[in-house]
Amino acid sequence: MSKNSSNTMALVPNTSNKRETVCIFGTGDFGRALGHKMIQSGYPVVYGSRSTQISNLIPKDAEVLGHAEAAQKAAIIIIAIQRQYYNFLTKLADVLHGKVLVDISNNLKLNQYPESNAEYLAQLLPGSKVVKGFNTVSAWALQSGTLDASRQVFICGDDVEAKQLVMNIVRGLGLTPVDKGSLLAAQEIENYPLQLFPTWKFPIFLSLGLGLFFFFYCLALDVIYTYIYENNNFSFFIAITVPNQVFPAMALTLFGLVYLPGIFAAIIQLYRGTKYRRFPDWLDKWMLCRKQLGLIALAFAALHAVFTLVTPLRAFSSWRTSKQIISQVLNNQTEPLDHTNAWLNDSYLALGMLGFFVFVLLGISSLPSVSNSVNWREFRFIQSKLGYLALTLCTAHTLIYGGKWFLNPEAYKWYLPDIYMLALVVPCTVLVAKCVLILPCVDKPLTKIRQGWERNPRYSE
Ligand code: NAP
Repeated sequence: MSKNSSNTMALVPNTSNKRETVCIFGTGDFGRALGHKMIQSGYPVVYGSRSTQISNLIPKDAEVLGHAEAAQKAAIIIIAIQRQYYNFLTKLADVLHGKVLVDISNNLKLNQYPESNAEYLAQLLPGSKVVKGFNTVSAWALQSGTLDASRQVFICGDDVEAKQLVMNIVRGLGLTPVDKGSLLAAQEIENYPLQLFPTWKFPIFLSLGLGLFFFFYCLALDVIYTYIYENNNFSFFIAITVPNQVFPAMALTLFGLVYLPGIFAAIIQLYRGTKYRRFPDWLDKWMLCRKQLGLIALAFAALHAVFTLVTPLRAFSSWRTSKQIISQVLNNQTEPLDHTNAWLNDSYLALGMLGFFVFVLLGISSLPSVSNSVNWREFRFIQSKLGYLALTLCTAHTLIYGGKWFLNPEAYKWYLPDIYMLALVVPCTVLVAKCVLILPCVDKPLTKIRQGWERNPRYSE
């Protein structure tokens, strides 16, 4: 086959309504699923396969031919074959010359090969126009039509025209192409399906670590200590009392950790006198997972609210109440209402409910559908002002809860502070630091730095 004859399919934009034929190499799971979707969307499909026998699994309106024959029928060829078999394509270099080859392959491990599969394909067939795409879409989702969560198809390639043709097909299938640039981006695109919740890893591990620490801390103070020193078996506390102390402690600490990196960033910028130097890596990574930390904190706050609601239903609560009533009856003495205590109790509950409400609003505002409907200034206002308001309310709720105990030696079992005191460390640090940062003498230079002013400009005129 001569180069010219193989190139008869010109790469011209299709202005008629008729869809152009698409060739798919490989009749495996992905090739079949994509072919099925293409036929549904009106694209004639021809398969290039090692076997031209038609099986029941192949979409019924598709043609199945040998690789060379099939390639001649289309300008776009989708390579639905694993990378390790690409070598055989070099024999088809002539027929594939000038054609658009869509590499849809994935690897089994992150950075498995020195170059991306798409770059490897481009090296094998320098006369073809390689475009990377479709690798983030699963065969199952294509076949079953459940593509809601992954409508985006990342595309990259060095030939702009070839990329446009593939993006048109993506649109024709009812999906959304996302142009990621040149073929250099292929490695990144190939790594996407291999990543497991990359932005959630740190928040989840941190929450697990923190949760275990708080759980055993609480267990030691509320169950083991009472058993050893007061001879009370409160092991059932493990079901509700301990979790209901761990959940708010987690919520408050993680919520504080959402705002702590912002404080560090401000201190670093003030110290350096410029915003034009990169933050340390750990701070960059921390800032990138603030939303995830906030959502986990919100989940724990919600659990705390639910666990608190069931308190009156507990056998322990009714036992304690009846014990108090009986003791008053036996002593023939009614305890007068302690107004200070009633005030503290009501304020503590009110602050908790308000804090949770604002926290929920904050969570809702981080949903893409909501955040997309506000501009960046409004979004920053909500996340910063509303966020600090929620943090202040939740911290005040905890401070009032433990207020009278802070200076009471009985609150320090084994000389250790109670869990709510530990929970206050991060949010109180954040709030105190924030109060310092909003002082005009600190806020003014910080604002100037954030607007581009430098204490020691590197590039002076
Ligand atoms: P598959 O079911 O194993 O199909 C691969 C196809 O490649 C085979 O059916 C065969 O087609 C062809 N093939 C196998 N050995 C060959 C060889 N030595 N020489 C030439 N052709 C050969 O795999 P798949 O799941 O369809 O995956 C195909 C590609 O799509 C892979 O690179 C994968 O990473 C990518 N991908 C898959 C999915 C998915 O959900 N499955 C999602 C995204 C991307 P013939 O018998 O017709 O020649």
